[in-house]
Amino acid sequence: MRKPFISANWKMNKTVDESVDFMKAFVPFVKDSLDVEIVIAPPFTSLFILNSLIKDTNIRLAAQNVFYEEKGAYTGEISPSMLINVGCSYVIIGHSERRQYFFETDEIVNKKIKLARRYELGVIMCIGESLSEREAGKTFDVLKRQVVEGLKDISSNGIVIAYEPIWAIGTGKTATTAQAQEAHEFIRKELQNIFGDKAQEVRILYGGSVTPENIDDLMACPDVDGALVGGASLKPDSFARIVNFKRR
Ligand code: PEP
Repeated sequence: MRKPFISANWKMNKTVDESVDFMKAFVPFVKDSLDVEIVIAPPFTSLFILNSLIKDTNIRLAAQNVFYEEKGAYTGEISPSMLINVGCSYVIIGHSERRQYFFETDEIVNKKIKLARRYELGVIMCIGESLSEREAGKTFDVLKRQVVEGLKDISSNGIVIAYEPIWAIGTGKTATTAQAQEAHEFIRKELQNIFGDKAQEVRILYGGSVTPENIDDLMACPDVDGALVGGASLKPDSFARIVNFKRR
């Protein structure tokens, strides 16, 4: 049985004060939600303070990015040991916005995952096709390449995959449950080729305009094990409803 995994991705939103306000309001909504792994990925600047607020709760922290070197002259970058030190359990790697705006390739994604895993950080690896790739019938080629190259020489331990069709991110255009299930099933088959039976233990999240209105249907898909949530994770009540999705 794969434990459902619901993660917020705040992107470049919320100051320290706003992050604290969110967490104080959010904790009571989810304190009894013990059958879901709950993760919040705030900006780097809020990690330290949120770590003190989530002690003794069922909420875990993720960073939104990490660098692939341990330390040194890399102005502006953050290392895995720094993330561990501020209480991160996970790190998001290869988000489509990082791939698109910061030119992260599958090779860079792979290097980041390798170093993060060496420090035992859990990894949420994002993959997903663009609209033009989907329309050209290349969705499965893209997903296969991202899975195979991103996970090269990596074991399944601590790996979570987020399938995020780029055309659904922040657009209000969610994939249908059929599209999500089809992609997740394909990804699991690719994971089976890489990890063997361990692929059955890997959580595959859906991301792309997840809301309180569509989470129940998405979670009813057999290969959808959770969600990575952007916009709808910014308000405590909205994100809490997603965490407390209704089982079908
Ligand atoms: C995301 O950024 O990972 C995401 C899925 O965003 P949104 O939920 O806003 O589409």
